[in-house]
Amino acid sequence: MLWSERFTEILSDWRGLAELTTLGIGGAARYFLEPRSTAELAEVVAALGKAGVPVFWLGNGSKLLIDDAGVEGAVVSLRRLQGIRRGADPDGTEVEAEAGVRLPHLLAWTIRLGLAGLERCAGIPGTVGGALSKNAGGAHGSFGDVLVSATVVAPDGRVETRDSSLLGLGYRSSRLNGAVVAAVRLRLAPDEPRAISARARALMDHRKATQPLQDRTAGCIFVNPSGGRSAGRLLDEVGMKGRQRGRASISEKHANFVINQGGALAREVRDLIREGHDRVLGRFGVSLDLEIVEWPRPAVVCQGQLER
Ligand SMILES: Cc1cc2nc3c(=O)[nH]c(=O)nc-3n(C[C@H](O)[C@H](O)[C@H](O)COP(=O)(O)OP(=O)(O)OC[C@H]3O[C@@H](n4cnc5c(N)ncnc54)[C@H](O)[C@@H]3O)c2cc1C
Repeated sequence: MLWSERFTEILSDWRGLAELTTLGIGGAARYFLEPRSTAELAEVVAALGKAGVPVFWLGNGSKLLIDDAGVEGAVVSLRRLQGIRRGADPDGTEVEAEAGVRLPHLLAWTIRLGLAGLERCAGIPGTVGGALSKNAGGAHGSFGDVLVSATVVAPDGRVETRDSSLLGLGYRSSRLNGAVVAAVRLRLAPDEPRAISARARALMDHRKATQPLQDRTAGCIFVNPSGGRSAGRLLDEVGMKGRQRGRASISEKHANFVINQGGALAREVRDLIREGHDRVLGRFGVSLDLEIVEWPRPAVVCQGQLER
């Protein structure tokens, strides 16, 4: 039996990916799977591994630049894993959420329970799985700060619980060693719902004032270099704001955001990213590292070097 015959209920062929990303760019996935439970996810992982099909995990697509030619492999979407529940800890401060739960939804849920901590991620449009994978966050902290452990499916299909200390969480990075996140356990702190909401709102107000939230973007293009000025500041100083290539442009509000003005191509976005990288390197001697994730593979070539 072919691997694909086992998954007809959750499999589609040549599924367009652009609409599943916040940037709205990219071709189709040869195979597209949407497992309905951790057990089914584990079966999919094992079957794809055995068949030697390259796999890509999809959350809310808010950090992705997908090539115009699409992905010659299997994209596995976690969006059907939507469970949330309160943990069984005696203090009642833990919550468990499946990988496809979006952070804004989880934040609203925890605020209602009077549990604080996730407001550090207010306004980040990703899923719990994507947030762990990129250790999403900002000036007020990262997702990993409240993470106790994660349930993951290893590349061979085994379901394991990994303590957060074993996940190599760093600045916008983690070490999952090929595993996919199926669920997370978070430890929060009791607080007044009104106080938590006020902190979340203050962060959102700051974002609205400084980031192009109304536009189609994939968040920050580059991570901030260590020490010194932010990537956005460096890109601003080399005149990237408002730069345009086809239907892609660099935000006038924040130079570290690339915008799809409608119908932009991945190629045009890559050209702008490369231009920003090379201008900053030329002027400041700083080689910025990509924060955006490229599918099917890193393809932004900067000054003759493959980034990352
Ligand atoms: C307007 C806007 C503002 C943003 N602001 C911020 C910010 O302040 N801070 C910040 O850190 N990010 C920010 N982002 C980026 C993005 O929202 C985060 O990186 C988010 O955590 C990505 O989650 P996702 O579900 O969208 O992941 P996706 O974009 O779907 O995937 C991103 C990466 O995570 C992997 N992945 C996804 N799900 C899983 C899983 N279950 N298991 C293993 N790997 C997985 C993917 O394979 C891919 O490599 C912003 C984005 C936008 C559009």
